[in-house]
Amino acid sequence: MQGFTRRQALIAGTAAPLAGMIGGMAKGEEGRPAMARTSRFKLGSMEITTLLAGTDVRPDPGKIFGTNVSPEEFKQVSIENFLPVDRARFYYTPTLVRTGEELVLFDTGLDAESMTTALAEAGVRPDEITLIVLTHLHRDHVGGLMTDAGAPTFANARYMTGAIEHNHWQQQDSEVYRAKVAPLLEKIEFLEDGDEVLSGITALAAFGHTPGHMAFHLDSDDQQLTLTGDTTNHYVWSLAYPEWEVAFDFDKVEASKTRQRLLQQIAAERTPMIGYHMPFPALGYVAQREDGYQWVPASYQLSLD
Ligand SMILES: [Zn+2]
Repeated sequence: MQGFTRRQALIAGTAAPLAGMIGGMAKGEEGRPAMARTSRFKLGSMEITTLLAGTDVRPDPGKIFGTNVSPEEFKQVSIENFLPVDRARFYYTPTLVRTGEELVLFDTGLDAESMTTALAEAGVRPDEITLIVLTHLHRDHVGGLMTDAGAPTFANARYMTGAIEHNHWQQQDSEVYRAKVAPLLEKIEFLEDGDEVLSGITALAAFGHTPGHMAFHLDSDDQQLTLTGDTTNHYVWSLAYPEWEVAFDFDKVEASKTRQRLLQQIAAERTPMIGYHMPFPALGYVAQREDGYQWVPASYQLSLD
């Protein structure tokens, strides 16, 4: 099925489904609104594709975001931003970066099937991935590393993640670590702040969400972009209000400081960012507000060539 895109399928009118998909939807999504799963653009000579590897709706976002502000304030901010307070949609968006020689995947979604379904829509087979980079080792980022049968999803890949991050989870001996990360240990290289992943891709310490969480700076032909991972996990309740505490953050004070530092930098540089949990396609800009920031979704800025 490689090279046979969904658009061609629709034009041909054959409705030939990709494996595990019904007319472009993942299993269990029949009858739900259609949503694109891939978005591609160029950054200098890098080709970047964001991949929606999963999305779900969860109740009570006020118990996750803004846990240090009153329910009234949470409600007021939500109303101002046209957001319901009882439910929120979560997005899980790994990023694929094609350089001259390598095909790099940043984070791997909740499970192997969702990840490979999104890759198939981008016309990529798992065995084509040469390098997997993990921002951190939470389940929604490492879930796609191994199949349900316990085999590596990406047969030809090597792996990188932060050294502090890895050591933390190894010591915890968590179930997720044992199932998804430990089997690949021999092939994992460990990153420190400022390390070069590849030419043009640099690791940045962004600790707090987890002890060794990392962001990544991309630079190609004088164009820059930051992959912020889970530095900020909602475009309003976290990015717009970076001091709001988030239940998912391991060290809430450090996470908030990191969030403010990175967002301040991205806003000042006026360069785009990709945030793993931003609304798909997860690509946008950060504008400074009086006491926080504003998420400005990208439109056509990166598709003018
Ligand atoms: Zn996450």
